[in-house]
Amino acid sequence: MKVKKVPMRTCVSCNQSKPKRDLLRVVRCPDGTMVVDLKGKVSGRGAYLCRERECIERGISNRRLERVLEHPLDPELVQTLLETIHTI
Ligand SMILES: [Zn+2]
Repeated sequence: MKVKKVPMRTCVSCNQSKPKRDLLRVVRCPDGTMVVDLKGKVSGRGAYLCRERECIERGISNRRLERVLEHPLDPELVQTLLETIHTI
């Protein structure tokens, strides 16, 4: 049986492996700014989270996101993430 290849990534919050497009990518750019990469085009160190409120909130609150990105989260980034939740 042939399996179609879908790029999989692991959510830093729940450790589940999911198709990349079902995840939210947070990127720490080389200049230290952190962005939510909705289009998958930003280069830098990335962390993935499920597009689910629970995973995003948990990833922020238990500092998994900070650990993976090796950088404290900007209040602005947290704000953007929380706003993103409402659009999901
Ligand atoms: Zn998750």
